[in-house]
Amino acid sequence: MRIANLSGRLTLLTDTGAVDVERASAGRFGPDPTAVYQDWAEFAEWARGAALPAGAAYDETDLGAAVPEPAQVFAIGLNYREHAIESGLDFPVEPPVFTKFRTSLAGPVGELELPTDTVDWEAELVVVIGKTARDVAAGDAWEYVAGLTVGQDFSERTRQLVPPAPQFSLGKSFPGFSPVGPAVVTLDELDDPSDLEISAAIDGDQVQHSRTSGLIFSIPVLIERLSAVLPLLPGDLIFTGTPSGVGGGMNPKRFLQAGEEIVTRIEGLGELRQKCVPGKRHTTASAS
Ligand code: ZN
Repeated sequence: MRIANLSGRLTLLTDTGAVDVERASAGRFGPDPTAVYQDWAEFAEWARGAALPAGAAYDETDLGAAVPEPAQVFAIGLNYREHAIESGLDFPVEPPVFTKFRTSLAGPVGELELPTDTVDWEAELVVVIGKTARDVAAGDAWEYVAGLTVGQDFSERTRQLVPPAPQFSLGKSFPGFSPVGPAVVTLDELDDPSDLEISAAIDGDQVQHSRTSGLIFSIPVLIERLSAVLPLLPGDLIFTGTPSGVGGGMNPKRFLQAGEEIVTRIEGLGELRQKCVPGKRHTTASAS
């Protein structure tokens, strides 16, 4: 199944269109697209068996962040070998973890305001947690996953990499820097959830192209390592890292420009589309 946030309401996307969950379930499940993960097992069972009404047409610009108010958002750095190489950094022994503050979450289709001239892209597979995970072994970890979705880890490189103490979390948390969607896709919809084609293209020019089977730390291993430190909560998001092909790794470096459209795609999950526009508070990187 595909679970979306349509105009702030929990929605199933079916072959015929959008089905509002609160109405289709006669109020058994509420309209909150984040709270449903508290009730995930019961909801999933209902959604699989329910005789749903025909879906309604919808405008994809009305889709919000697939999970708009997660308690925690984790993001993993350097999780593909080629990306570590292009970043000039060693392969990690433990997953490097930061957060993307949740006010940066955005819907799958819309505008991206560029706060500076050094905004980069990072196509990422995003995991949505379906039940509280604490000290979970990798072998059991898929049971804690509600589904997968497409994410972008937009990154303002000047702030992110400012010496002497890099600011990963802030540099990746400007408004709109974390679009996720178009829907949370459950694992049964995918032939192999650990091997999906992932790509990003700018105005049709493919800049990233890889497979999620190239992750250094797989989804189960990430859940094991994170849950060894703290509990993962229902609805939490894990941005799993980006493959090679980011602009900061190019020679010369390339960053997003106003007017460009970036499309981020993952096999079986769908795509994100952001049109870049100048930020209202735009500064040049050298002035920051
Ligand atoms: Zn990233």
